[in-house]
Amino acid sequence: MPHLLRILALIMTALTLALLGWHEYGMDSTLHIDAHSTYLMEAVDDSSDGGSSKMRLLRQGKRIRIECQLTDKYEWPFCELGIKLADPAHALDFSDYDHVTVKVKYQGPGSHQLRLFVRNFDPAYADPKRNESWKINEVAFSPKLEGEVVTIPLKSFSVASWWIANNHIPLAHIAVDMRNVPMIQLSTSGFKEPGLHVIDIDYIEFHGKWISREALALVLVALWVSFALFALLLDLRQLRRKLLNSRRRERALETLTSALELENRKIGDMARRDPLTGVRNRAGILEELFRESELARSSGRPLAVVFADIDHFKRVNDEFGHDTGDEVLKQFALELGSHIRNGDYLVRWGGEEFVLFFPNTPLEGAAALAEKMRAHVETTTWPAALRMSCSFGVTVLGAEPVADFIKRADDALYEAKRNGRNRVVSRTVPEAAQRNGKV
Ligand code: GH3
Ligand code: MG
Ligand code: MG
Repeated sequence: MPHLLRILALIMTALTLALLGWHEYGMDSTLHIDAHSTYLMEAVDDSSDGGSSKMRLLRQGKRIRIECQLTDKYEWPFCELGIKLADPAHALDFSDYDHVTVKVKYQGPGSHQLRLFVRNFDPAYADPKRNESWKINEVAFSPKLEGEVVTIPLKSFSVASWWIANNHIPLAHIAVDMRNVPMIQLSTSGFKEPGLHVIDIDYIEFHGKWISREALALVLVALWVSFALFALLLDLRQLRRKLLNSRRRERALETLTSALELENRKIGDMARRDPLTGVRNRAGILEELFRESELARSSGRPLAVVFADIDHFKRVNDEFGHDTGDEVLKQFALELGSHIRNGDYLVRWGGEEFVLFFPNTPLEGAAALAEKMRAHVETTTWPAALRMSCSFGVTVLGAEPVADFIKRADDALYEAKRNGRNRVVSRTVPEAAQRNGKV
């Protein structure tokens, strides 16, 4: 894994842990209500329903006091504290709260039961002007005489069945819903418990997280999926880069290889060529000589050889220096080369001695060519205005080892030297070599 990804993974892990920890121990969202709250509070009793209960609403510092004189005139006598939070159109969303705490003290006869209503407005079933049409999410609880903090999970709320029945609420809307709460209410139980009921409320507090566990999980999953995607993309990019690099290396290697091959060929070529004159040396003719001799034997076509040796070359060196000698040698190779065709071979055999091979050339033809070269050497212009001459030995290949054929030409050259130089001596194939096979 690349360095960047490792760091990112570390950051993501730390972030995840921090968010989870923070969510567990912080991120609190609270709605606190007491007598100092600016919400509109009203006292409602059953007198409007034909009862005779009387309720008084008092503020004692932060404390809200309800003094309720319950009578049993009405069927379900009650006193109720209504707290208006907002207009139905701008009501509060309670869906992120998960519990409510009520610090309350209840003095009076009977069961001490209270009911907390969280009203929800939804235009699908309610009329903003008739608050009896607003959904009643309710819970009942019994605070102690001496006062206590009662904690009620919002899960414990249910929708009042009489509200569902009275308002003909369709099945789709009968579930608890606290997404749009314009009002909450705290009411006595509705049992017939005549007498003075004094209820002291220090506060009502709704608690939750400003981001729900589900939303946080979603955020974290989204974060990790993006990270995985990023990692994959990065990986893909690196793979592509590696591929490109290896392709580039491959191409570089290919060019290097072909350059080396070229170099090898050059080196091989150099080993087979004489550096002074540029013509083949002995090593450079071996393969071709073997091939041409085989060809000559199998096809019956004659292979001629001409040995050429400059006369008194030593004197050139002695009298004009080695450099002039070199110049003469270079020119000599050029002069001989200008007399041969494509497919003929010119070889520097050693020193000032050159050998020419003429495939598909009879003895007479080779001798005539040698004579032409001899005449040319004699008449052409040489470095330092020298006059040069050259001796030639000529023969053709018989049914014999190639070495015998070479030796015969050398012998012919030797004879030419012996007989006064500047001449051509031809040797025919001896009878023994003729009898053994084709010429
Ligand atoms: P001959 O007529 O009998 O052939 O006499 P020659 O002097 O030509 O023959 P010899 O074999 O006595 O001498 C050949 C000389 O060629 C001897 C050597 O110094 C010279 N030689 C051989 N290779 C080179 C070369 O590459 N450059 C030069 N400048 N001289 C060379
Ligand atoms: Mg010589
Ligand atoms: Mg010689």
